[in-house]
Amino acid sequence: MRRENLTASRYDMVVMVSGGIDSTVLLYDLVCNKKANPLALHFLNLTSSYEYSYVKKNVNNLRVDIETIDYSHFLNVCVPPRSIPRRTDGRIVFGNTVVLSMALAFTIARSIPELYVGLNKVDSESYIENTPVFMDYLRHGLKIVESECSLCTPYHNLSKSQIIKKGIDIGIDFNTTLSCISPINEKQCNKCDSCRDRKIAFRELGVEDPKLT
Ligand SMILES: [Zn+2]
Repeated sequence: MRRENLTASRYDMVVMVSGGIDSTVLLYDLVCNKKANPLALHFLNLTSSYEYSYVKKNVNNLRVDIETIDYSHFLNVCVPPRSIPRRTDGRIVFGNTVVLSMALAFTIARSIPELYVGLNKVDSESYIENTPVFMDYLRHGLKIVESECSLCTPYHNLSKSQIIKKGIDIGIDFNTTLSCISPINEKQCNKCDSCRDRKIAFRELGVEDPKLT
């Protein structure tokens, strides 16, 4: 079987970036601390494209190249008709798997050896498709297709406050991140779960969130 040549690219890894804290810190960590040359990958949802504006601020600041994949159509067709009960958390079961599989396929197709994902401990505890066990399931899939690409989740054991501390040490301006499911005029709504997690994490550190001041 012909194997992929995963050293042919000029990029060291692909990093999934959402515009939130975890993936932003991960991107800066790889560039500033590890001196790596990543390619950023953003999944674009055209109904909430404000996230991309935050992503662009950081990739421009770091001079990192970026690719986008528009998955709006997938999200739209997964919305069930009114006659079918919807999940209260709004999640699409196997949705994370779809996105991660697309990201892995992209990484392998571009001959890049690693895919980095900024999952943290809270993500892992809140949803099965974010757990280390589930990541191992995807890694097993990579072995079955005889790919040498690695799926890396270096923050999986870190809390959000530990990740923010890492970002503060690097000198990241957290004004360039957004953690909100339903922002109002591109500002944190201060009501959703993402806003709550962000607020708790900054409070644990005893640091003011510049986004809220
Ligand atoms: Zn919010």
